[in-house]
Amino acid sequence: MRIIRSKKEMSAISRQIRRQEKTLGFVPTMGALHQGHLSLIQRAREETDFLVVSIFLNPIQFGPEEDFKRYPRVFKRDARLCRREGADVVFYPKADDMYPADFKTSVSVSELSQVLCGRFRPGHFQGVATVVAKLFNIVSPDIAYFGQKDAQQAIIIKKMAWDLNMPVKIKFVSTVRQNDGLALSSRNIYLKPKERKDATVLYQALNLARHLIKQGNVSARDIVRRMKQLINKKKTAVVQYISIVDLKDLRPVDKIKGKVLIALAVWVGKTRLIDNIIVNV
Ligand code: AMP
Repeated sequence: MRIIRSKKEMSAISRQIRRQEKTLGFVPTMGALHQGHLSLIQRAREETDFLVVSIFLNPIQFGPEEDFKRYPRVFKRDARLCRREGADVVFYPKADDMYPADFKTSVSVSELSQVLCGRFRPGHFQGVATVVAKLFNIVSPDIAYFGQKDAQQAIIIKKMAWDLNMPVKIKFVSTVRQNDGLALSSRNIYLKPKERKDATVLYQALNLARHLIKQGNVSARDIVRRMKQLINKKKTAVVQYISIVDLKDLRPVDKIKGKVLIALAVWVGKTRLIDNIIVNV
């Protein structure tokens, strides 16, 4: 496995792989890898000939009050895990190379970026789309893998690739959870023991929604209300939003039918956690 820091070198490797007519799989990450990231890596490893994992803590997707400074940085450990999982290249660019002082361009996917998390994190998805577009141009993958854990992000990237005719296939990978249901996240390490226990309520609320829908309840409003009630029982938890939206356009639905995304963001102590499920009615 090679660790590549230069964009030029990364592109040269990619060109070489294409000349050999091998398929190139790509998993973009911000590092602090856990089993969620590894499931993307494993899937890519199985499905493609040459595997690139990028580790880049993207400054432009963090708001001024967000956790960019304290986000865990554990590159050596991440590189070890990538090697163990059979990655061919870890692409680890420097922030100054990705964003030189005269950097001026951004990619924004309208509407999809303004709803759900976008309402509370202005500029976030523009930062994500911009960095992923750059990474796609540098790495030129055939297939790129994204987690359902960040469903809105994955949907936005797929739309960007489609709208801008990027020759890359976007694949979604299911959310990996701990035994008690908490979705794995690099941010879970911020949780204090009591908060960690309370954090299971996110998935419990999603399961409650699934259960209510199965029983025939189609009122998004009623389901959201009952989810809120459940979450509010935990002292450390404060709901930021709970939304039930159409999976395609992320528009809110009143009556649940077809494929819906049930998504939420909850502050647990000082940590903002997100989770979601897709329900097909
Ligand atoms: P991040 O490093 O947080 O930017 O995440 C990199 C990729 O890993 C994204 O596509 C995420 O959706 C995905 N990911 C993060 N957590 C999980 C999880 N628990 N299960 C599956 N995929 C995940």
